[in-house]
Amino acid sequence: MRFALASGQRVEAYPGGRAKCRRCNGEVIAKCGTHRVFHWAHRGMRDCDTWAEKETDWHRAWKNNFPAECQEFVQHDEQSGEKHIADVRTPPGLVIEFQHSPLDPLERATRERFYGNVVWVVDGTRLERDYPRFDRGKGDLRPTKIQGCFLLASPDKCFPAMWLDSSVPVIFDFRGVDESQPPDAHRDGLWCLLPGRAGGTAWVVGMLREQFVEVAPSRPQLPVVQEILALMTEIRGGGA
Ligand SMILES: [Zn+2]
Repeated sequence: MRFALASGQRVEAYPGGRAKCRRCNGEVIAKCGTHRVFHWAHRGMRDCDTWAEKETDWHRAWKNNFPAECQEFVQHDEQSGEKHIADVRTPPGLVIEFQHSPLDPLERATRERFYGNVVWVVDGTRLERDYPRFDRGKGDLRPTKIQGCFLLASPDKCFPAMWLDSSVPVIFDFRGVDESQPPDAHRDGLWCLLPGRAGGTAWVVGMLREQFVEVAPSRPQLPVVQEILALMTEIRGGGA
């Protein structure tokens, strides 16, 4: 984790630093090596939050796209007493989780229920086949009247199976942290797979990463995404 608590303040790791975990109040020590980004770690155990991801460069770079006060938000479910640290939570209450590691579908669903209003940002460079699959499949994206929004008949030909049944928007980042790649509009942009299908067809929204980073903090939901989800609900309601 990037932040821990010392003298009532959120502090970042510094060599020799000691602080308390903001989730469990346990002691954490500063890890300030050259191999990974500076971070806090629990003494003698893994992170107390089993949902926490290893702080990779990709993960940290994404979190840092958002104001520090939105990062590592401790979300507390008063009823169950459960507490987890969301990567980012914007002031209007949108949680953004950055996911590099594979996630079991049941586990993914549990987290989606816990956070409620959440979108995933997924590292689309984790497996070598992920981008080539999208690159081949993107020809099937059918433009719609809404700019940047597409219909996709076979989402499985574009996106990793693990994310196809998500109940919330999943944004794929196929560029990762490797900026040595030549510019490629498809790789540099973000591709958001929306939940829900109409006869197997999915909605996909293409967006500029700068736009996402700029707009997300001030909205309770991603703008275009919100419109389409409303439209889908309307269509379903009309057909009933
Ligand atoms: Zn802890």
